[in-house]
Amino acid sequence: MNNKFKIAVIGGGIAGSVIAEQLSTFDVKVSLFEERTSIVSGPPMCHLHTGGNLYRELSNENCIDLLTQSLKTQKYLEYAINSRPTIITIPTEDDGTPNTLIDRLELLKEEYCKIVFKDSTLALLGEPLNYYSTYSYDDCLKLALGNNQFNSNLSSIYSTFKIMDLSRLKFPIFSVKEFGINQFRISALLNYILLNRKNCTLKLSTSVTDIKKHLNTFSITCKKHDSKCKELEHFDYVINACGYKSALTDSMLGIFKNRILEFKASYLAFWEQKHKMPELIFHGKRSTVNGMGQLTPYCDGLFQIHCMCEGISLFKNGRTVSSKELFEIYPDSFLLNYENFENNTTEIKKLTIESIKFISKYIPSFSNAVFAGKPFYGIQQIPGKNPCLRTADVCFSIDGYATVEIVKISSAIQAAENIINKLKTEGHITSNNPLLTTNVTEKLSLKERKSLDIKAMNISKKRGYPSVIAKRYDI
Ligand SMILES: Cc1cc2nc3c(=O)[nH]c(=O)nc-3n(C[C@H](O)[C@H](O)[C@H](O)COP(=O)(O)OP(=O)(O)OC[C@H]3O[C@@H](n4cnc5c(N)ncnc54)[C@H](O)[C@@H]3O)c2cc1C
Repeated sequence: MNNKFKIAVIGGGIAGSVIAEQLSTFDVKVSLFEERTSIVSGPPMCHLHTGGNLYRELSNENCIDLLTQSLKTQKYLEYAINSRPTIITIPTEDDGTPNTLIDRLELLKEEYCKIVFKDSTLALLGEPLNYYSTYSYDDCLKLALGNNQFNSNLSSIYSTFKIMDLSRLKFPIFSVKEFGINQFRISALLNYILLNRKNCTLKLSTSVTDIKKHLNTFSITCKKHDSKCKELEHFDYVINACGYKSALTDSMLGIFKNRILEFKASYLAFWEQKHKMPELIFHGKRSTVNGMGQLTPYCDGLFQIHCMCEGISLFKNGRTVSSKELFEIYPDSFLLNYENFENNTTEIKKLTIESIKFISKYIPSFSNAVFAGKPFYGIQQIPGKNPCLRTADVCFSIDGYATVEIVKISSAIQAAENIINKLKTEGHITSNNPLLTTNVTEKLSLKERKSLDIKAMNISKKRGYPSVIAKRYDI
């Protein structure tokens, strides 16, 4: 056991946890260091972005990558998927035209067809030709009046047409197979799997404070929060998966790169509804008063609202850069924004009410929604200088060291795949990996799944959210 190739993964967010899980399917020894008390507890996540249709500004290439990576993630993390459609609309006050969305949706449909043709196990959004549907104004009126003679997936869409103010939207509008994903279920699942891997050590509440590179090895200094002493350990390979703090970890080895950091928040509201709702997107120009609005449904009338307007989900001084030239990794004005946010309950209530008002422009009855507690918030990091980049995975800057730089969670599996390929090329791992990109829940019994459901709810409660948020939401 002592001669095994030793890998340190620093950071137990989605990226580090997936990488540790995938690496520990090989004959290596993995240590996962996480300074918080549980894994996958970083910035929030609720969209799988299968095709990137929530962002009009993305390149087609980025959207295709998001489609491919999200399908692999959906297969891999099936337990954590919220399988419900997304309705995409363009409000009348926006400059955009719906027809420009059709070109991209067509492209994505073709790509989905190609992916499924190559690997039928990735046909996870149903029939490729039904990847998306369009609805004219007349369709919406007619379908809204119809009864429930359709399957529940479609009737949820038609019932939503009933409550939308159609006069505020441009037509056609679209429904697309972009699903949701649940952070608390991922946390419960990966924690359970990693604890059961004999060759993986999960070091929670442990901060890595220094890394030194030697000829062929690294020494890592870490400190467990309940201990006064620091510990020193040696590794053959180190993976920095520290999310927005990865610049600090890189700097321990004298590595500096350009990165964009953005502080964002989304709010929670309760709103009583008779029928299940799809995800709703109201496109708008980011950072303007009419920035994009997202309404994400959970079980039992809980909704998440994300309004990409300055002052609601995005903030003044909320975006910054870190670079070698500046060596000002996190300017104070930026960090203050983030660190003080959760304590400002009055401001949070005010922002929740503003986001309810924002959505009520398009769904008048949503004005009855009420504040449901602590918001989701965090810092999203984008490598390089392009603020529209949404797919990135891993960078190998020096021998034996990798920095993970995912923007969206679907890239975690790609980052793991690239690291594994690199380790194979370098001869550090030799066996084939039968588990790669398969569903990690596949072998779980019904009893284990039920126990994970309870664990996921407990995690959400511990983190200060309503436990219902951890329930699976399928239509
Ligand atoms: C408001 C908001 C909404 C978002 N919504 C979505 C969404 O719907 N879908 C989506 O795909 N993406 C979404 N994102 C982006 C997504 O949250 C990030 O891509 C993802 O969390 C990044 O994962 P990560 O593992 O790289 O980093 P993190 O989740 O930040 O994990 C890094 C971990 O490293 C640990 N760490 C750092 N330094 C050390 C150290 N020195 N020692 C030990 N541990 C350390 C941290 O405690 C942390 O747990 C959203 C981001 C924000 C801010």
